[in-house]
Amino acid sequence: MENEKRAVSLQRAQELHEEIRDFLTFKKEYLMDMSMRRDVMSRQHKKDLLAYFDATESDWNDWHWQLKNRISSAEVLKHFMHLTEDQVSLLNEISQKYRWATTPYYLSLMDYEDLTYPIDRMAIPSAEELNDAGELDPMHEEYTNPAACITRRYPNRLIINVTSSCAMFCRHCQRRRRIGETDQIEPNNRIQEAIDYIKATPEIRDVLITGGDPLMLPDEVLESIISRVRAIEHVEIIRIGTRLPVTMPQRITPELTQMLSKYHPLFINTQFNHPGEITQEAAKACTMLADAGIPLGNQMVFLKGINNDKYIVQLLNEQLLKVRVRPYYIFHPKQVKGTSHFAITVEEGLSIMKYLRGHTSGLAIPQYILNAPGGLGKIPLLPKYIQEMDDTHVILHTWEDKEVEIIY
Ligand code: SF4
Repeated sequence: MENEKRAVSLQRAQELHEEIRDFLTFKKEYLMDMSMRRDVMSRQHKKDLLAYFDATESDWNDWHWQLKNRISSAEVLKHFMHLTEDQVSLLNEISQKYRWATTPYYLSLMDYEDLTYPIDRMAIPSAEELNDAGELDPMHEEYTNPAACITRRYPNRLIINVTSSCAMFCRHCQRRRRIGETDQIEPNNRIQEAIDYIKATPEIRDVLITGGDPLMLPDEVLESIISRVRAIEHVEIIRIGTRLPVTMPQRITPELTQMLSKYHPLFINTQFNHPGEITQEAAKACTMLADAGIPLGNQMVFLKGINNDKYIVQLLNEQLLKVRVRPYYIFHPKQVKGTSHFAITVEEGLSIMKYLRGHTSGLAIPQYILNAPGGLGKIPLLPKYIQEMDDTHVILHTWEDKEVEIIY
């Protein structure tokens, strides 16, 4: 009998091995390619960038230096990438419409020979941005703005937008409307108006500080906002939304983490969209935040040509857990003007979510969310697991599409 059980178990283990084999092959090849890119390509790019700016390693590690030397013109970019005259004029044309800039750090991760490489696609404008499909404000944020800097869509939580500034202007940005021509920190009187609104609204227990990117603020300005929010008795938790661990990890300094750790419970959500963004520098930034006791979540956006691939999403989420970031949400891309080339269908998103279940741990499976147009809130999207149900029974599908029935 024991032998029979073991034989069945071994047979099942073999089936499970078959099920994961293709992913393991993909992972091995992908990680090999990634480490080649890092060890050879990015290292060389960094050297070239330091030489171009006549800068040192310690400049590179200073976020102020990274910001001051952002690359935002085709004329500078063509020192590094081979751009044709047509590409230069296209970049100039798009710059008139949508701002673009990338940190030297993020530029060092790109493939200079292939603008379709996902890291390039997230940073370098493409002709497709001139397609005007979509809206600038599909979420109607302007109609969910009861006080300066505030967006309120839910009964007991809200957002304070403290700046329009970001380290890099992502080509897929879902909040393009807020990323203006200038880097603008909200003036203190408007921030105070937001804080007064929260104070006067006792049901608000959860405040998300975002932007733009709130970590673009100097430590003392950020602390003055966080400390005022923390002083409000009914605010239970504070959240910060930032992509700086990805686009400018140098911003995560010991001074910043030490300051943030004074205001627990404080959570940070970031946005890694591709495994190529999890570099040693990004991993170090995440580790520093986690060591400061800050739970980290990731809010990926499904983006065509970047991560609309089941193995990429699995690898990204598994690698994120290794650097102590919990995959929290995957957002379905909104219909934002200038980003239609990143759109995928809900059907495609659901098929990736369906694959993840069973093929990776639950910790690596975030919730797939569609933000309802018009600011009507988040809608969770789930593959169809329930086939039918009534008072007497339910018929369900397992991750392998086996049908099971439970009779009450
Ligand atoms: S960091 Fe966020 S808000 Fe800023 S440009 Fe990128 S996606 Fe948009």
